[in-house]
Amino acid sequence: MSNDKKIIYVDNNATTAVDPLVFEAMKPFLTEMYANPSSIHTFGGQVAKYIEVARESVASLIGANPKEIIFTSCGTESDSSAIYSALHLCPKKKKVVVSKVEHPAIIALGQELVRRGYKVEEAPVDSHGRIDMERLEELIDDDTAVVSIMWANNETGNIYPVEKIAKIAKKHGALFHTDAVQAVGKIDINLAESDIDMLSLSGHKLHAPKGVGALYVKRGVRFRPFLAGGHQERSRRAGTENVPSIVALGKACELARTYMKYENTHIKALRDKLEKNLLANIKSTKVNGDIENRLPNTTNISFEFIEGESILILLDRLGICASSGSACTTGSLEPSHVLRAMGVPYTAAHGAIRFSFSRYNTEAEVDYIIEQMPAIIERLRAISPFWEG
Ligand SMILES: *Cc1c(COP(=O)(O)O)cnc(C)c1O
Repeated sequence: MSNDKKIIYVDNNATTAVDPLVFEAMKPFLTEMYANPSSIHTFGGQVAKYIEVARESVASLIGANPKEIIFTSCGTESDSSAIYSALHLCPKKKKVVVSKVEHPAIIALGQELVRRGYKVEEAPVDSHGRIDMERLEELIDDDTAVVSIMWANNETGNIYPVEKIAKIAKKHGALFHTDAVQAVGKIDINLAESDIDMLSLSGHKLHAPKGVGALYVKRGVRFRPFLAGGHQERSRRAGTENVPSIVALGKACELARTYMKYENTHIKALRDKLEKNLLANIKSTKVNGDIENRLPNTTNISFEFIEGESILILLDRLGICASSGSACTTGSLEPSHVLRAMGVPYTAAHGAIRFSFSRYNTEAEVDYIIEQMPAIIERLRAISPFWEG
């Protein structure tokens, strides 16, 4: 860091800090353990063994068999691989069903598929971001190759009934994929008795480095590789394995299991304390999302009649890293597609801030944010043309 101002990092749904134990585990594979795991020599074989240890650890976190895990370069690659595989293997089917609140890794992929002549349907959500299950089922038909619905939403933290949706997809003869990048490591996942065919996860959302992910493909579900090349990953993902990051992902998954309870007690308590106090101390605020059915670490709060970006700038001056619900689209500040899909009014969608916690946050940090926020909001509302007190 170029300055020594203390950072309060509450943007853990964007990325997380690498756990020091994860860094320790991967280090040897950046230095002395550099052999190519596909090499015939003993050195290569020694390195290859650690990939298999990592695979067992990833599988174990989600209740899968190690054979069902394919290492990839990121969550985005896992998502694309899953959907393209399904489309290649069902060439007669031309339809993909997703939701309106998916991550850009799925939304933008859908737009690309439309350009390639596929039909992509987006299931709507209600004002709490919950999927309209009846409407979703109506969209799934004989022409549907794959249904892809996220396990948990990155902006609101909403958890979706993916097991139920997997059953619906199966009933209609479609494959089911879930982007579980935000769910893995935060909530219990057990694919042992599941109808989920494919699942994406990403290292950097659970304290492993950026640039590594995994795709679960259920045993018996056919899979067509995304990349052509060598026979790595049992011919399912070509390209020399990113051994240090794969080892790191394995370690991160092992640690995630030990922190699962902490996530749902301590981290949840921090989130709840922040949310409760901000709502109590600041007028015209509300939580976006499904309060009863959310990730334990996420809150998305609208501070009405002001701009989220302005709030972020003032927070940033205090060293507080959060995120707004908006994304900058072609120069104009559009509210996020997630909040728009939920029908959050313009004046609230623009002032949405996401706070997302991890095991590195402390109660003192939460107290500091609680202390600073009212003045920030008051200051911005004083100059807002929309605020009438
Ligand atoms: C971060 C994220 C991704 C993308 O993962 P990368 O590893 O950054 O490609 C996909 N889906 C969700 C829900 C995410 O939060």
